[in-house]
Amino acid sequence: MAVPQNKVTKSRRNMRRSHDSLEGSNPNECPNCGELKRPHHVCPSCGHYADREVVAMADEIELDEDAA
Ligand SMILES: [Zn+2]
Repeated sequence: MAVPQNKVTKSRRNMRRSHDSLEGSNPNECPNCGELKRPHHVCPSCGHYADREVVAMADEIELDEDAA
């Protein structure tokens, strides 16, 4: 098994990890419905992209009482 030749000090380990933090997303407003959405993605609430509807949204989901 490969063995590290030198000890990585706490300082050097922490300097390496200084770039590991996650960044928050940067949502912007949908021009159609005003809901926050991911940039360059279809709006999940109204299905619009670039001012036109590209994904048809179901008005409401009919629940079958027997199936539930
Ligand atoms: Zn929208």
